[in-house]
Amino acid sequence: MVDFVTGLRCRECQRAFPAEALHVCDYCFGPLEVAYDYERIASTVSRERIEAGPRSIWRYRDLLPVDDETPVDLGAGFTPLVRADRLAAELGLGELWIKDDTANPTGSFKDRVVSVALTKARQLGFKVAACASTGNLANSVAAHAARAGMDSVVLIPHDLEAAKVTMTTVYGGTVIAVEGTYDDVNRLCAELTSERPSWAFVNVNVRTYYAEGSKTLAFEIAEQLGWQAPDHVVVPIGSGSQLTKVAKGFAELGKVGLLPEEPAVRVSGAQAEGCSPVATAFLEGTDAIRPVKPKTIAKSLAIGNPADGWYALEVMRRTGGSCAAVTDAEVVEAIGLLARTEGIFAETAGGVTIATLAKLAASGAIRPDERVVALVTGHGLKTVEALSGSAGAVPTATIAPTLAAFDAAFDADGDHHHTEEPVR
Ligand SMILES: *Cc1c(COP(=O)(O)O)cnc(C)c1O
Ligand SMILES: [Zn+2]
Repeated sequence: MVDFVTGLRCRECQRAFPAEALHVCDYCFGPLEVAYDYERIASTVSRERIEAGPRSIWRYRDLLPVDDETPVDLGAGFTPLVRADRLAAELGLGELWIKDDTANPTGSFKDRVVSVALTKARQLGFKVAACASTGNLANSVAAHAARAGMDSVVLIPHDLEAAKVTMTTVYGGTVIAVEGTYDDVNRLCAELTSERPSWAFVNVNVRTYYAEGSKTLAFEIAEQLGWQAPDHVVVPIGSGSQLTKVAKGFAELGKVGLLPEEPAVRVSGAQAEGCSPVATAFLEGTDAIRPVKPKTIAKSLAIGNPADGWYALEVMRRTGGSCAAVTDAEVVEAIGLLARTEGIFAETAGGVTIATLAKLAASGAIRPDERVVALVTGHGLKTVEALSGSAGAVPTATIAPTLAAFDAAFDADGDHHHTEEPVR
């Protein structure tokens, strides 16, 4: 197996570091990023080589920072890219696609980043996988650690959705609920990382590798569009890492010759109003991201002090993208709209993306002549409580088991569009 990684590089001062479990530059404290030899990748990689690979993120292994023959793999990635004509018509858009990452092994896009992080962590000799999580990362780390035969230690805020807690504990790792926000949990994990250097904290000391997993969203979108780039993508923002790496992924496809030239993809960001430090800075036209105390049903995005917020702002501005924040009521409405029009049940983060898509379409920031891809990053079963009390969460009627009761209930429901013609 060939490895095209040349090392790590500081995103600020460009100093080079070896490809080890390092995440900050010890000269300027800038974050580190994986550096590749793109010329060598370009002479090896091809569409045919990728298309002959597994139906997972590992078909893009030439562009990932690991040279392990047998990655820690539950089958993350190669999720459906679904043409969404009915939703597009509702929103006044033209060619719209949904990247359906609800289909991942633990139901969110986090399986992409964790599969990469734990493959690298195992290679570096770590026996324990750890993380601070807003929920989905916890699910994925616990599951992939079980798959790899590693121990896991997962720290979460104490007030997560029930499904996300169960989906973490079931895999048998250590799960610690912390009385505080995600930002409190994350700070504790930063302290633990120096205290316990033999643990791989996927979003701290191996974050550099973890982050690369998100590039596979861009790779898949381009391949599934027949090796073409979209004009515009809409990405939810928690830490801002995913958005930044989706942009990097499209740029890399140009660099290694898998797309004709560096594609011009506008990247727009989506946040919930109750936790919108990046959207606020974008709309105010400033670089200064003011940390907030999150209060929103979109818990997977509830990061008040986003580590990659500044880089996300830079990507959105440089690519001509936009950014907006939406209310919790709009999130619930958007979850229903996506489900009714396209048959995809998203968690609250997906509701944030679709509500933001609607808002940017209405304002003209996303245009009907663009080919648009919206990233639906997590499954609705993880956040059912967000819908409790809403119209989508109750049966049309509850009846006695008789034909008469059925007919009465069905006729009373003016909403249906069925015909009484028998099917031949
Ligand atoms: C973590 C998460 C995000 C945000 O990703 P970042 O890289 O932190 O910006 C989006 N959607 C879902 C479902 C998530 O779990
Ligand atoms: Zn530096």
